[in-house]
Amino acid sequence: MAKRNLPSYKASGKLGPLTLALFAGVAVGAIVGAVIYQLIMNWIPIIQIKFLATLAFGGGLGAAAMFAVHRGHCRNALVAGVLALAVAGLGLFASHYWNYQSAISDIIDKQPNVTSADIKADLPFGKYLDLRKEMGWSMKRGGKVEGGMVTFLWILEALIVVGLAGFMAAGAAAKPYCESCQKWCDDKSYTIWGVTSADANPLIERGDLTALADISGKDNNPTVNLTFKVEACPSCTNTGFLTLHEKRVTTDKKGRRQEKGAKLLSSVTLTAEQLAHARDRASFAQGQKLPG
Ligand SMILES: [Zn+2]
Repeated sequence: MAKRNLPSYKASGKLGPLTLALFAGVAVGAIVGAVIYQLIMNWIPIIQIKFLATLAFGGGLGAAAMFAVHRGHCRNALVAGVLALAVAGLGLFASHYWNYQSAISDIIDKQPNVTSADIKADLPFGKYLDLRKEMGWSMKRGGKVEGGMVTFLWILEALIVVGLAGFMAAGAAAKPYCESCQKWCDDKSYTIWGVTSADANPLIERGDLTALADISGKDNNPTVNLTFKVEACPSCTNTGFLTLHEKRVTTDKKGRRQEKGAKLLSSVTLTAEQLAHARDRASFAQGQKLPG
């Protein structure tokens, strides 16, 4: 690791006025999405597919929350995480509530003289959840999920959905942003083979990030490389950050390929000059990539 403490990107913690409105939209989406999610969970008795549906529900809410963060210019990871958590929690609550509604319509189908109000009086939502826990559900391959196991699965489901959405939103808000242009940074990467942290560290210690960005491979050693991720403002030439990874490819005793990676720098602030060098190199690397 580099010993020198180079300044790195710090989010301003600000959020655009649109952030809350966009999250309100995501909340509506979560309630609608919960209908589809619950249908899949009820129709398909295969646990693996239920699990995938849970991942998709959490991932979908996370993607929607990321969109809200991005468009809402939310540079506050805590606010983004909490909003995503709330929206995902609402989605989960809605999925249980839709289930409750569909159970009520099932009862009415069988007993047309009973009204929904009668059922709700006899079986409030909370009591319905208790009943579901008691009754559980049957598995396709036999066996039954009930009681504590139901509670456990509900908690697991909540952790996956809320956790995914929260982490994705917070991660999006922590990405570099140019405060003077009010724009998110773009990122481009380039990889130089035949160099390691031993070559990079002296430059990092001197703070010579221009030389670091311009580093070239001593040989064509295909087992070691440095990957430079350049995050830069799309509008100006002053805001840019560098993340540097080292990779070593080794083969173990059984001849299996193994990769070891280390992060040498994390969103370190670049001066305009350093940024120009890193950016040139990244654009050149992009141009070098063959289509397809
Ligand atoms: Zn800018």
